[in-house]
Amino acid sequence: MSVLFRNGLVLTMDNNHTVLRDADVLVVDDKIAEIGTGLTAPEGTTEIDATGGIIMPGMIDTHRHMWQTAMRGYGADWTLTQYFVWYYLESGKRFRPQDIYAGNLLGALEAIDAGVTTTVDWSHGLQTVDHAEAAVDALEAVPGRFVLAYGNIQQGPWDWSAAPEFHDFVSRRLHGKGDMLGFQMAFDVTGDPAFPEKAAFEVARELGAPVTTHAGVWGATNDDGIRLMHENGFMTPQNIYVHAATLTRDSYNRIAATGGSVSVSTESEQSAGQGYPPTWQLRHHDIPVSLSMDTSVWWSGDLFSAMRTTLGADRSREHLEAHGRQETVTHCHLRAEQVVEWATMGGARALGLDSLVGSLEPGKKADVVLIKNDRSPVMFPVLNVYGHVAFQAQRADVDTVVVNGRIVKRDGALVDADLATARAKITETIDHLVGDMGEEAWLAGMNPDVPETKVTDNPYQYTDYDAGSAQWKH
Ligand SMILES: [Zn+2]
Repeated sequence: MSVLFRNGLVLTMDNNHTVLRDADVLVVDDKIAEIGTGLTAPEGTTEIDATGGIIMPGMIDTHRHMWQTAMRGYGADWTLTQYFVWYYLESGKRFRPQDIYAGNLLGALEAIDAGVTTTVDWSHGLQTVDHAEAAVDALEAVPGRFVLAYGNIQQGPWDWSAAPEFHDFVSRRLHGKGDMLGFQMAFDVTGDPAFPEKAAFEVARELGAPVTTHAGVWGATNDDGIRLMHENGFMTPQNIYVHAATLTRDSYNRIAATGGSVSVSTESEQSAGQGYPPTWQLRHHDIPVSLSMDTSVWWSGDLFSAMRTTLGADRSREHLEAHGRQETVTHCHLRAEQVVEWATMGGARALGLDSLVGSLEPGKKADVVLIKNDRSPVMFPVLNVYGHVAFQAQRADVDTVVVNGRIVKRDGALVDADLATARAKITETIDHLVGDMGEEAWLAGMNPDVPETKVTDNPYQYTDYDAGSAQWKH
């Protein structure tokens, strides 16, 4: 099977960041066969006209709680505290295996629709192995590339990672799945001086699983967790530190020295309160960055939003810091090109998949996205191509998506995706949650109280305005 993208603007994201205009990309079986102009296609090739479009590598999200997609948008007005109360303390336990399945199915479809061809499913709702079976069943039902980051917020990681059924599950469902389904262990390090998480790190080491951990989250995890991991020898280049927002220079130095990377979820950090999105710090420490969207309970799962908000937050901070010193930033440090790199090769490197995906180069696996929308006035002119991807394009402009050589989206619509079934399963989950909680608690959870706002005294008065006649007096 082969696919030929014809006559597009190709963003290769190779080491030289080669950009080719009016070029073709030929996919044969699961690999990129050739990139160039005027390519000849083997017989039976599906040709896709990419004229006026941008051909780029599939994007990579390194941290998404896909099971929470079942509650899309429910927590739009939450803080992190409200999120913790809802999922960790009160209602996370209500999720049955079929609810994990429903959320993962929808989250997986959402990812490939947005051109996110690889997603880490940060799956911390796996209360039992049956929940985990359901999570993997859903990931395998959708033709995307996924990594299951196994977690369970209802139990200490030292407990669940020691259970024989967990080990059995890993060997049955995760090991040996190649590059379509990877495996990580997902748990947080609270900073307890006894370091009870040590046992889980030892299991991860034994299973060869990278650890992904929410680090530097205001009010939850801090420098103590990083120090304990470092002092015990568990900071490795495979580790992914999610958020890493509220940390001191000492922690960033430890991360930089041990080669791990940070998954930045800017839109999440801005709203939920983990700390200021840290790219402005990470750049100074030369710490590798990947991007993520965290959860659809607040945000959508598209990396255009991640790129856009990350550029904005980094520049915003740089201007603010400069103004505090009475200085003016005349040149931006963070460039659009850099966030496109983070959304593609940055993710691939973080996951150890950089020899396979993350760029368009002959011999690599074919995860390809065509951004093209002939109905949109925003698709021309394409002058600064990185800027166009980061600030102009939207998920609705994702015309075609290829994962592992297979066309999964074409002409702006998912191919063979059973959205009716996904919708029915999601409806069952919502009915179950509302029924279990009661309508009142369900609505209260979605509508947290608004704190009182004190309006600042204003010394200026509209003395020249006569409210009675609604006219200025002179
Ligand atoms: Zn998270």
